[in-house]
This record gives sequence, C-alpha cells and structure tokens, in this order.
Amino acid sequence: MSQRPIYLDCHATTPMDKRVLEEMLPYFTEHFGNPSSINHLYGWEAEAAVKKARETIANAINCSPEEIIFTSGATEANNLAIKGIAEAYFSQGQHIITVQTEHRAVLDPCHYLEKLGFEITYLPVQKDGLIDLDLLEKTIRPETILLSVMAANNEIGVLQPLPEIGAICQKHDVLFHSDAAQAIGKIPLDVQQMNIHLLSLTAHKIYGPKGIGALYIRRRDPRVNIAAQLHGGGQEKSIRSGTLYTPQIVGFRKAIELALQEMETENKRQSQLRNQLQKQLLTLEDVYVNGHLTQRLPGNLNVSIEGVDGAALLLGLQSIVALSSGSACTSTTTKPSHVLKALGHSDKLAYGSLRFGLGRFTTSQEIEIVGQQVVNTIQSLRQATVNY
Ligand SMILES: *Cc1c(COP(=O)(O)O)cnc(C)c1O
Repeated sequence: MSQRPIYLDCHATTPMDKRVLEEMLPYFTEHFGNPSSINHLYGWEAEAAVKKARETIANAINCSPEEIIFTSGATEANNLAIKGIAEAYFSQGQHIITVQTEHRAVLDPCHYLEKLGFEITYLPVQKDGLIDLDLLEKTIRPETILLSVMAANNEIGVLQPLPEIGAICQKHDVLFHSDAAQAIGKIPLDVQQMNIHLLSLTAHKIYGPKGIGALYIRRRDPRVNIAAQLHGGGQEKSIRSGTLYTPQIVGFRKAIELALQEMETENKRQSQLRNQLQKQLLTLEDVYVNGHLTQRLPGNLNVSIEGVDGAALLLGLQSIVALSSGSACTSTTTKPSHVLKALGHSDKLAYGSLRFGLGRFTTSQEIEIVGQQVVNTIQSLRQATVNY
C-alpha cells in the first residue's frame, strides 16, 4: 500500500542518473584531493578531473574552458552575474532590464539592487509567455548595463528567442545574461551564435547532483568584468573563492555529457508523452494550456483548470502523482504564481493550475495512469461543486 506517487516534478529537480553517481563515487574517497594542491598526486588527480569537466561544459555551450566559473548552482550563478555586473559597471549606468516571468533567483537579486539605487525594468510578457522584442528594444536606454532573460521558463517551459535577443543587445552594446538552468541539455545553446555574455547553469535539473552549477563569463569580444561576491582563497580566478567540490563537478560533467548524447531522442520521446497527456486533459472543458504551444520545453505541460479549487485538486492527486501547482509557497503564505499572473491570469485561475514536468525516467505507462487520474479527479471535483 505504500507505493510512492509517480514523479512528474522534473522542473523542481531530477533524480540523479546512476551513471552520474558511478563517476562521482571515487572522488569522495579515493581521489579526494584539493584541486588547488599543486604539490602532490592527490591534488593533480582532482585538478585533472576539474579540467576535464570544464572542457565538457565549455564545449556544450561553445565557449572556452577558462570562461567557466563553478558555483553552487544556478541561484548563485544568477546572483554572481547580476550583482557582479551591477558592481563592476555601475559607473557606466545603473539601469537593468529583466522579465516578469524570471525565476526568483533573478528577480530577487534585482529587487536587492533596486534598494541600493539601481533602476530595474521588469518587462511584461505576451499571452504566450514570450517577450515582445520591439518593446525590449524600446526599453533599452544609454544607461542600461545589463539585460537578463531566461532561456527556458521553469513553470511554463517557454523558450525565449535567445539569438534575436542577443542581436538586440549587441546592437545597443548591452550585456546579455541568461538563466539556462532549465535549458542546458534540452535545447542547443551556443553563447557565440546567441551573443550571450553570461550564462547560468545547474546540474540537478539534468540528472546530476544538487549543489553544483556554473556561470559562463565571456572573456573576449568583449571581455566582461565581474565583481566577486564570495571572497577567500582565490579559486576560480578570484571570482568565486572556495574549495572546488570535485565529486559534484565530476557529476556535473557526466550529467551534461549524457544529456547532450540523449537530447534528440529524449526530446522526441518526452514531447510525445507530453502531447499524449495534453490531449487527454484537453478532452475536458475549460482546461487551457499555459505558454507557447511549440516554443516550449518537450517535458513541460502547464494547464489551468477552470471551476476547481486548486488546493482540493492537489490534495486529490497527491497520493498518485508528485507535481507542482500554480502557486509558490513562501515560508508563511501561499501566493499565486507570478509567472501565471504575468500571463494575465486571475489569482483563482493561477491557483487552479498544474505543472507537469516529465523527464528521462518517465514511462508511457505512468503518463497513462496520471492522465486518467487527473481527468477523474477534475471531473469528480466539478461534479461535487455542481451538487453542492
Ligand atoms: C532550478 C532553477 C534555478 C535554481 O537553481 P539551483 O541550482 O537550484 O540554485 C534557477 N533558475 C531556474 C530557471 C531554475 O529552474
């Protein structure tokens, strides 16, 4: 009776792939050296592993290895990028542009900078979740130093047009940062072709370990300066001090390697399953898909369901499937998702929303069960409301 719910919350995190774990294990016990120890074999082994990881990650986004700075994840990478640029460039201007549908790890550093006197523009999105490129261009001013636009949204899966955004930044000489936590390993990323100056990555959304990520910082055409946010032993070119976490870095490397190898087949497989689930949910009346229908992550499905109480829906489903609702729990309150609000949804409709995140280990059998159960639950909740 204690069967665990089916996991469809892969935008929150993913299970680690066993092939990733295999590669990591020797670096906890045997090759445990500090990559900064230059006097002995233990240090050299760790240093070699870190070097190899830097190369794989650099190849994955088409940059050079010395442009990769390891961090504890995408939250830290976003903080380093946004605060680090603000601090390094404030004499050139104090205006930053971002988007209303960004992750909290971008929005909150921006709020913080606002308190310090920076001016932040939070661009709205269109009904499909995409930004309006004309509006973006009009928002840029001579004192704009940075634009931060995520590659793939963590709630509605929407993929922003990075090459077009990059071209606008290039034209107006604005630095372009992108949070690619949800995008790496799922869509091709090329920082040259997309004219990206800073790119945030994380391992745990692609079957790698939690607690490791990276920030790409461009070093030529132009050379981007950044102010360190963690000071100490001078690791990572003194941009991010702290002993490198070799096992996590090794796992990050393997996770990226696997994700790239399997990207094409997985994207095809996951989008087929997603479409199957979507089709089944859309047999119900008053169910809407949130976000652009094609410019979207293959494993993402976010739907709003009219006429049901979101809390009751989640309660009815929680023993069957692990997924997220259209609300974000902070420490004290439940608030409707700022992303769904930015699409123009009412609080009520935002609460009555579900986010399905399919992944590498999602099977078609699981999708069949979930589809049927979600449909049943919605129908019985609606029935109960009518009878009441
Ligand atoms: C998960 C996520 C983050 C946070 O990443 P961590 O590595 O957990 O800090 C940031 N941005 C987006 C878009 C995410 O999906």
